[in-house]
Amino acid sequence: MIIVHDILQARENIAKYIHKTPILHSSQLSEICGNEMYFKSEHLQKTGSFKIRGATNKVLQAVQREATYITAASSGNHGQAVAYIANQLGVPATIVVPVDAKESKLNAIKAYGGQIEKCGTTSAERLPRAKKLATEHNGWFIPPYDDPLIMAGQGTIGLEILEQLDHVDVVVVPIGGGGLISGILTAIKQTKPKVKVIGVEPETANDTYLSLKNKKITAIPGTTTIADGLRTSQPGSMTFPVLQKFLDDLVLVSEEEIKRAQFLVMERMKQLIEPSSAVTVAAAMNGKLGVQNKNVVCVLSGGNVDIGK
Ligand SMILES: *Cc1c(COP(=O)(O)O)cnc(C)c1O
Repeated sequence: MIIVHDILQARENIAKYIHKTPILHSSQLSEICGNEMYFKSEHLQKTGSFKIRGATNKVLQAVQREATYITAASSGNHGQAVAYIANQLGVPATIVVPVDAKESKLNAIKAYGGQIEKCGTTSAERLPRAKKLATEHNGWFIPPYDDPLIMAGQGTIGLEILEQLDHVDVVVVPIGGGGLISGILTAIKQTKPKVKVIGVEPETANDTYLSLKNKKITAIPGTTTIADGLRTSQPGSMTFPVLQKFLDDLVLVSEEEIKRAQFLVMERMKQLIEPSSAVTVAAAMNGKLGVQNKNVVCVLSGGNVDIGK
């Protein structure tokens, strides 16, 4: 398991490549949610999501160990983050994407200097392809969440929240594969254990909810939730034990609740967030956090959305 020291190290490693994102406050959302509502704004992060934190921590190590080539398997935020940081560090990157990936996502990867390789429609097809490409070219495959350096990189968000805000009671975090929340849990529970951390999943992508209930990693069939960053079918083997040890609560939100939350944040706060971020706001708006009049920080994990053409 990672420890807070790994996260402090990650913070030092990645400092000059990422933004320390602001924490926004909203009086209107505070009123609606019945808590003082703060928002850790990773939608304003480089490449539009927090994924750049873990990716940078990992790719830096690859480069130090003389990797001359980087691969990843993701058409989403992780793929964009890896393409961006590899390019910054002067190493070629190939991102393996599904054959039906959206043009806008491919364009973002290309704009960050990444090469595109199309392969299949499932991650079961893309992962081996990306790993094989890496081995063939003296390269490193960069996993999206189940990796100590990735988890430590995402955990830097937890340290920043505790520093930026004095009286935090609850931190609310979306759960996909669990890299983001396992890093944040480690940072918070090993420094200020009284701060509660609550995870959120879409009802239709409740693999971590089921895994915690069954006390073992449990996979679900594919899902089509609009929160496309949370579509993983099971938690990671390294991330899951961290959740089992530290997580205070996990709540589920419906597709309708996610859409309403995303819209409300745009309307009231003028912030463009993606559905994977909106799950945290949805949980707060619908009274699912089980607290009132507390200082709540929702992690807005990303802002990459397709707004027509
Ligand atoms: C990847 C991602 C998540 C989920 O992160 P995990 O580390 O997979 O749990 C949440 N929100 C956004 C915007 C993401 O890109």
